[in-house]
Amino acid sequence: MSFHFSSINLGCSKNLVDLEFAIGEILKYSDRTPIEYIEDPEDPETDYVIVNTCGFLSSAREESEETLRHYDRLGKKLILMGCYVSVKDDNFLSSLKNLHSVVPFISYSTIESLLFGKKAGLDIDAVVRAKVAIKESKERKLSEYLGSIGGNQRGEKAFVWKGDEVRAYIHAPFGYEYLKIAEGCDNSCTFCIIPQIRGKQTSRKMEDIVKEVQVMLANGIREIQIIAQDTTRYGTDLYGEPRLFELLEKIEAIPGDFRYRLYYMYPDILTLEHIQKLKSFKKLLPYFDIPFQHSSEHILKRMGRHYDEAHVEAFLISIRENFPDAFIRTSFIIGFPGETDIDFQHLLDFVKRHSFESVGVFQYHDEPLAASSKLDEKVQDAVVNQRMKKLAKVLDEVYAKHTKDAQGKTFSGYIMNTDDKKVIIRREIQAPEVDEYDEVKISAIKSKELEIGKFVEYHL
Ligand code: SF4
Repeated sequence: MSFHFSSINLGCSKNLVDLEFAIGEILKYSDRTPIEYIEDPEDPETDYVIVNTCGFLSSAREESEETLRHYDRLGKKLILMGCYVSVKDDNFLSSLKNLHSVVPFISYSTIESLLFGKKAGLDIDAVVRAKVAIKESKERKLSEYLGSIGGNQRGEKAFVWKGDEVRAYIHAPFGYEYLKIAEGCDNSCTFCIIPQIRGKQTSRKMEDIVKEVQVMLANGIREIQIIAQDTTRYGTDLYGEPRLFELLEKIEAIPGDFRYRLYYMYPDILTLEHIQKLKSFKKLLPYFDIPFQHSSEHILKRMGRHYDEAHVEAFLISIRENFPDAFIRTSFIIGFPGETDIDFQHLLDFVKRHSFESVGVFQYHDEPLAASSKLDEKVQDAVVNQRMKKLAKVLDEVYAKHTKDAQGKTFSGYIMNTDDKKVIIRREIQAPEVDEYDEVKISAIKSKELEIGKFVEYHL
């Protein structure tokens, strides 16, 4: 049996890491079965498509279903992975003609046996159950179903890769890759269903993580993106206390010319002493990804997020004082139930005061499976749109100032794309796939070799 497969990744970098491991595990069997990974899932040669789904929001679930439906129509055999599996709708799945396998998290490390061991494919009982369920109303059934799954998931350890698996480093040609240090989350932000989907936090052993960093460096990766749902709580489940800084010391001690970056820092347990500690790490990029979600204590309380204004202010001021080249990225949710004009003005002032280098802005979405959907004082769409516009205007002014301040300065970065007039460069401090890249005239680049992934010096 030949196995010509391709893949689609929906959702976040944490999900992508799982897909890269799955691809690696499948390719491991190339000596036993004719296996070929094909870039383009629509290529006529592609028989199987892994759809690595997202389930975080109802819109993400719709996108996952649409993607599955699209490749089903193309007659591709579908391998369903990712977060949608935990919140899947069996009605929808039973409507697919070419569903080959549904791979729950727990089966990730045995995906090859699922595909090449037993020719199991579809779970017949699940199909029968779904057909019976078709008569029931979608929403009630879905929440009932999720309630039953939720029962299972909560408290169940999230699946993590141990590090001795083979992984397909898809981003290696660009010089960077994601290093997932834990999966799942112990926080309970009221707008988020990730703990329901991915379960409780499960950290990888430090030695496995260090081993994977060495494998990455051996594969020519020079920049390591450290991710988890909440990196600051790394190790709490495994070692009984947060051990992120001990892990960073071990990564820092690995020989080689490389850099690493921290994402998803949850600010409540970080202290000013931690800032000093971070300053001692020479390979750490001064990049601070801290998703505040809001600044008003009234809203933070309703979001179930545990940090106060004074703590955040002191923390941000200390970062600016200790890291002159700090790049602070954050994200905000606008229109959260109960958000008043005063709360919103507080947020605008917060953004102006700290002039963040990069901000993700999300309109509150009443996610039916999240606790916040049951909150009162929903904000009208017209008001939310107005606030989104106001914030966008403030951010434009902040970014314009950052762009002006960068003029005439010299930077280093990775070539992401070129044409005969200009080159798109990801400045070393800019995070891949989330931050704006620099557009640079060829004459402003020191090196004449302009290949993708090359690390070059240039001035703006
Ligand atoms: S920290 Fe909050 S928003 Fe992030 S994954 Fe955990 S529960 Fe969700």
